[in-house]
Amino acid sequence: MISEESGDLMKLFGTMKINEKGHLEIGKCDSVDLARDYGTPLYVMDEELIRERCNLFKTSFRDDDIETDVIYASKAFLTLAMCKLIKEEGLSLDVVSGGELYTALKAGFPAHRIYMHGNNKTIEELSMAIKSEVGRIIIDNRYEVDLIENICKSIKKKIKVLLRVNPGIEAHTHEYIKTTNNNSKFGESIFSDDTFNIINRLNSSEYMDFKGFHSHIGSQIFQEESFYEHINVMMDFANNVSERCGVVIRELNLGGGFGTYYSKGDIPVDLNNLLCNMLNRVKEKAKEFGISYPKVMIEPGRAIVANAGTTLYRVGSVKRTYGGRNYIFVDGSMNDNLRTSLYGAQYEAAIANRMNEEADDIYTITGRCCESGDIIVRNIALPNPKNEDIIAVSSTGAYNYSMSSNYNRLPRPPVVFVKNGKSRCVVKRETYEDIIRNDVCF
Ligand SMILES: *Cc1c(COP(=O)(O)O)cnc(C)c1O
Repeated sequence: MISEESGDLMKLFGTMKINEKGHLEIGKCDSVDLARDYGTPLYVMDEELIRERCNLFKTSFRDDDIETDVIYASKAFLTLAMCKLIKEEGLSLDVVSGGELYTALKAGFPAHRIYMHGNNKTIEELSMAIKSEVGRIIIDNRYEVDLIENICKSIKKKIKVLLRVNPGIEAHTHEYIKTTNNNSKFGESIFSDDTFNIINRLNSSEYMDFKGFHSHIGSQIFQEESFYEHINVMMDFANNVSERCGVVIRELNLGGGFGTYYSKGDIPVDLNNLLCNMLNRVKEKAKEFGISYPKVMIEPGRAIVANAGTTLYRVGSVKRTYGGRNYIFVDGSMNDNLRTSLYGAQYEAAIANRMNEEADDIYTITGRCCESGDIIVRNIALPNPKNEDIIAVSSTGAYNYSMSSNYNRLPRPPVVFVKNGKSRCVVKRETYEDIIRNDVCF
């Protein structure tokens, strides 16, 4: 029999329910029907929950005295339909590559609400961003200052920029470590004199309108204090820069990293409270220094989409190894959920067609890739899984589709948005034709 601690049920988010048939329902759609209609593996996104999360960020990160902006970090999950949703919800968008920028522009996302990131943007990407007049380019380093200056000069455009800095704080899931992260590849250090030279240069540029700073201290942060400490350090730095360089810091982009529930032990902070406190902290620090309030931005990615996503798989074989491990073979793989093998992430799962049955044992859900590390969920209690069962893995909305690959030439699964009993396909299933579409035969 199974042990106490692994006998947990899969946590239900948003519109998830168990219906009268004992099936998992999302957005009033029966997941067993979705699996039948669209095939498996399948990414299902709860549209109502995504919108609810957007709304929570927008309404909580607001203050009468201070200008704010919530920027969705699109690398978590981006498609044309998602851009449209983000636009409708009134959030801005952060992109880190030409491909993400292209997607946003193709979706008709307003360019002035796009923030262009990246630690090594190519000339082509920078030109594309400048020509399409994105809202801000977040400069990563000194070399990029030259590139942007040259591009702007040649096409006679001026662009608004932020400088990404490394505040020497690294937040981990349950702690933050100060001044131990001076080797991050992102941004320029706030402790380096050279950073002040870059700031002076930006400030005197004809082609760049220097607005302020960006910094991001990590992901899956569950400790409120990390966010407050980040603000302390950044406001101190902003004040320091004002005094040393005579520049007014008008904008502070504090990045993302808001922790999200995946499995037991993940305890997300109360966002409403946290976001309100963050703005108060900025105001307190500004008052302390007698400087005006900067515009403050945040960039949530995971916290907007992770819990809204569920991946559905169909069970093939169930194998008990000679060594005693129970494997469930599903028709997906690490290609559609890389996080387990990449970070050792832990997910919850259930049998979508038998939600009310009790677990009989502990299983490892594995996929079809030729890799022993091809694990989707390890050590999960499930009720006697068998061939043709539908497995639901929850909280797969962030960094699953966006990190997916074609390893072993497996086609990527489709993405379906569900809402109020209706489903719509927003990304089609890849075909074998798609798999060979860029192959050239001599
Ligand atoms: C990844 C990233 C984010 C989003 O992080 P989440 O953990 O998904 O909230 C925001 N800003 C920057 C610069 C990032 O690199």
